[in-house]
Amino acid sequence: MSVGILGLTESQFVAQAKHLDLTPAAAARGWRQLFREGTLPAAFEGKVQLPSMPILRREPDGATLKFAQQLEGGLETESVILPQRGRTGRIRTSLCVSSQVGCAMGCRFCETATLGRRKQLTPDQIVGQWFAARHSEQQTITNIVFMGMGEPTDNIEAVLQAIRILTEHGGPAIAPSRISVSTVGRAQGIERLAEFANERGFRQLRLAISLNAPNDEVRQSIMPVNRAEPLAELRVAMDAWPAGDRLPILVEYVLIPGVNNAPGHASEVAKFLAGLSVNLNVIPYNPIRDSPWPAPTESEVIAFCDEARTAGLRTKRRRTMGRDAMAACGQLGNPKLKRERKHG
Ligand code: SF4
Repeated sequence: MSVGILGLTESQFVAQAKHLDLTPAAAARGWRQLFREGTLPAAFEGKVQLPSMPILRREPDGATLKFAQQLEGGLETESVILPQRGRTGRIRTSLCVSSQVGCAMGCRFCETATLGRRKQLTPDQIVGQWFAARHSEQQTITNIVFMGMGEPTDNIEAVLQAIRILTEHGGPAIAPSRISVSTVGRAQGIERLAEFANERGFRQLRLAISLNAPNDEVRQSIMPVNRAEPLAELRVAMDAWPAGDRLPILVEYVLIPGVNNAPGHASEVAKFLAGLSVNLNVIPYNPIRDSPWPAPTESEVIAFCDEARTAGLRTKRRRTMGRDAMAACGQLGNPKLKRERKHG
């Protein structure tokens, strides 16, 4: 018997110790050694498996590093390491992870959408991205954002198991308040996340909603999911997200000139979000290949943010890092795989 160790929490792995001819104490020590030092004890040889996902490509761009890992069948995961200066001046290093290869949601501003959904990642393949960032790239990861390829609620149980592992004290030890799950906002997915966030230890898990529009008409034109689940349903789900002492919901807004930045749009967004504890995160659109839209100008971004603030929204503009490496929001997905899809 051989066990996929990166997909198990410490206690889940220890529960298997007997079948692996290990004492519970040796199993726990080895599990910790693997996550902390990146090495396996000799006693584990032949008994545990690491996911086979060698790093295929590294694309540094300034402080940002995008890397791709190989999976079976010519598929790849993509992840991005993004160092950012926090409000206190301290550097935090976020890892943007993929939960799927490709994505079925079809958002029109997103490069990943052009791949379609190619594969659901398993928990060890999601944690394997952290493992590569920590132990191959030697980065101390402080934050995780589920904002790489894929819609996390479309592979929710694997995502939740990965979060259980990533937050383990003896392992990656990333605080739940530093993990954001970014979703297009399907009600069922938000409900499952809320249920998980009510489990002990996960109350501070952060929910991020990819809103990107002031009303149904605009949202439908860029996010097909809105046809099945219009904004009224999203609002009901957001209302049900447990508030209390929680961190505010992050609302992401990819600003696309001529689509969702008309005067009055930011005020409509504020009206839609009224009464919720939210932070608005404005992300200047980063044109994908063959994009029908350009990037917004600096003054368009400023005008939208000003209107949002005047309408009472706590608004932050996200600095796009890694534009050249195509590593900004919605920019992941290997062009070669896309060509295969187009021609295949
Ligand atoms: S923006 Fe997110 S949900 Fe939409 S297609 Fe891209 S990866 Fe999928």
